[in-house]
Order: sequence, then C-alpha cells, then structure tokens
Amino acid sequence: MKDMVDQIKIRLRDQKIDVSDEDIESRLKKLIVDFRVPESEARRSVLNYFLKEHGIMPAARVSSEKVKIADIKEAGRWVDLEVKVLELWTPASGTISQTGLVGDGTGSLKFVKWTKSELPDLEEGKSYILRRVVTDEFQGRFSVKLNRTSQIEPLETDVEAKAAGRASAEPLKVVEINEPGRWVDLEVKVAQLWETNSDSISQSGLVGDETGTIKFVKWAKAELPDLEEGKSYRLSNLVTDEFQGRFSVKLNRTSQIEPLDFEIAIGSVAALFSGALVDLQKGSGLIKRCPICKRSLAKGVCAEHGKVEGTYDLRIKAVLDDGRRVQDVLINRETTERLVDITLEQAKQMAMEALDHEVVRSMIESRMMGRYYTVTGPRVDRYLLVESINEMPAVSVAQVEELLASQEVA
Ligand SMILES: [Zn+2]
Repeated sequence: MKDMVDQIKIRLRDQKIDVSDEDIESRLKKLIVDFRVPESEARRSVLNYFLKEHGIMPAARVSSEKVKIADIKEAGRWVDLEVKVLELWTPASGTISQTGLVGDGTGSLKFVKWTKSELPDLEEGKSYILRRVVTDEFQGRFSVKLNRTSQIEPLETDVEAKAAGRASAEPLKVVEINEPGRWVDLEVKVAQLWETNSDSISQSGLVGDETGTIKFVKWAKAELPDLEEGKSYRLSNLVTDEFQGRFSVKLNRTSQIEPLDFEIAIGSVAALFSGALVDLQKGSGLIKRCPICKRSLAKGVCAEHGKVEGTYDLRIKAVLDDGRRVQDVLINRETTERLVDITLEQAKQMAMEALDHEVVRSMIESRMMGRYYTVTGPRVDRYLLVESINEMPAVSVAQVEELLASQEVA
C-alpha cells in the first residue's frame, strides 16, 4: 500500500499538487478492500481523482465555452454563463459556501459554490459572468459547480432572467420527491413542528401525505403565515432540496400556504434503494428493549421508564450508499435472522460466551460491510424500514469510476 501511495504522490507532485498520504490511502483502501478493484485499476482511478479535483483533466486542460442555460444537456462540461442570481438558499453542509438558483433568458438551474473554491460571494438579484464552471447532472436535472478554477465577474448590465420556477411547479406526492431543485406543490398535514435553531428559519418540521413524510423549512424572509401541527394545507411553489440523501422542501418568498377544509391522512408507501452497506451503526446486533414501550435501552435504561429488566432483540441499523445518496435502513429481527443466518437464541449464546454483546454486531459487520443490497420498505423520517432485502453482485470497475466521479462533485 505504501508503495502505491508513494507512486501516486510523485505523479501528483509533478503537477504541483500536494495530497496527504492518509487521503490517498483511504481512497485506495475503499476501492481495493471495499470494492475489490484490482490494484493497478485502483491506482489509476485514485490518481485521476486527485488530478480532477485540482482542476487538471487527465487528458489535456479543457477550455470552457460560453453557453446559455438551455444549452446545458450533459454533465462534466466546462462552461461560461451570464446569469442573474434568482435565489440564495442556506447551504446544508460546510463544504458548500453558497447554493441557490441562477437564471438567464433561457431558463434557470441550481448552482453550488464549494467552500474550498475560495470565490467571492454572489448576491441575490445581481448579474454575473461565471467562468469555467462545471456542469453536473442528477436524475435528469442539471446544475453547475463553482470550484477553484472558476471565476466570478460582476456584470454592469442586468441579465434578463426567467422568474424562478413559478410556472413550472407541479403537484406531487411526497414519495415522488427524488431530486433537489424541483418546484412542487404539495397537499399535506403538518406531522411535527421542531424547534428552530437559526434566525433565518421561521418554522421547520415534518409534513406528510398518504405516501410518506418529508422535512420542511420555512425561511423567515419568506414572510409566510405559520403552520399549525395537525392541520392540513396546500403548499404551492416549494423548492425541493437534498442533503446526504434526505430530501426536504423549502418555503420561500414565492411560496403560498392555503389551509385545506379536509384532512390529509399521513401514510407511507414502499420505497426502493440500492447501494453498498458502508456503515453498521451502534445499536445493531443484540440489543435490549424496554418491556413496556419497546424502546431500545441505553445501558439498561429506558428514556421513558428508567432502569428496567430488558428483553432481548436483534436488529440492524445501517447506512447504504449508492454513490450519490445515503439511506439509513432499519432491519428487524426476523429479517436479520434470515440475512445473517443466526437466531436470537444463538446470538444470546454468542454474547454470553464472549461476555460481550458487541460480538454479534461485529459478526454482522464482517458479513455485510461493503456488500451491495437492494432494499424496499416504507420511509419513515430518515429511515427506510426494510421489508425486503437482497444482495446484489459486486460492482464493476466502470460503476466504481462513476461512483468516484460523483463523489468528486458531490
Ligand atoms: Zn420504556
């Protein structure tokens, strides 16, 4: 491994790029250990990754060309755009310094400005030329990313831009929301209101319809009336957002709230997700539950009922990653027993012999980590409650390349 790291480091140094040994090694390990990619293939892939990350295309340096938003029809293209900033949204992650919508006479799209690009901030309503930005695509929707090689130049003249989304919002069910940056109308009931931890947010919580629930955020500057828990509303012209595989809807200045005179019932329909199991979380394996409320106990204590004599159960809390999104999954005892071929009784026996409950979790981890699964079941908040799970064959090198490419821009 050390040799491979050094080889990559030398090639990067030729390009005046300095990357830490740990960064190179963890990426190599992921490919070789988790995805069983041949070493030579992994070395090439990791080298290309870091070259690209530093704006060097493996072939020749690409030049950007000036285009209109409607001309953007493929990912990975370097372009210059003359646009107006239509909306700024609060970034969901520290790696993003700004995100929102930009538009020109032909349409609008989402932009993401990475923190490490160290570019100046854009202002809402102002027009700019964005140079050397790279296009990206997620489920048919395009966006542009501003990275270290991009440039921002304010424009003297105002760019005529189409109003943000207004005409294109479409009525959807919650379960149909599967991409960020889409304008939608929902008929929902407010399931929960949460404490807000930011002055920029006036309300947030969960809303749902018969297909599922989704987080909502109502910006303070939207100046919209407050939603009440348990009441049903038609919410118009919301924009969808996504963070680490979890979708949300945002109510902004252009959104509308209309109380409904009938009640929406909150339910759930099965969702499907395929990906590599990348984390088996604490609280997996052999656990104890409160005999009264069935909550899992932390060190023999129920959050509701205090110290109780727990009853044993088996379950798996894991994270699947498809290279673009992650999904938390919960697997119940029956499915866990079948999946890892162990009964609750055998698990108890294992733990007793080892004098440690953790051995069960470790055993499950060694069997499932890095493998590919397809799961179905209802989504409840951040979890997919697994009703069926099937292992898939290991991924091909091409799929890994694609996965890494998507991680680079995500
Ligand atoms: Zn309890």
